[in-house]
Amino acid sequence: MSKWYCLGCGFMYNEAVGDEKYGIPPNKKFKDFDPAWVCPRCGTPKEKFTEVVS
Ligand SMILES: [Zn+2]
Repeated sequence: MSKWYCLGCGFMYNEAVGDEKYGIPPNKKFKDFDPAWVCPRCGTPKEKFTEVVS
């Protein structure tokens, strides 16, 4: 499980947790999101997210 960081606004998506606020279930891989998916907070395209290496 990874975390992904929006370069537009700093929004963080945690795959293990999902995002209840935006209707994303837990354990949903960022790579499995629709290619047209954009940041729910700022509209930044999916490809502008960066994987957080911890
Ligand atoms: Zn964003």
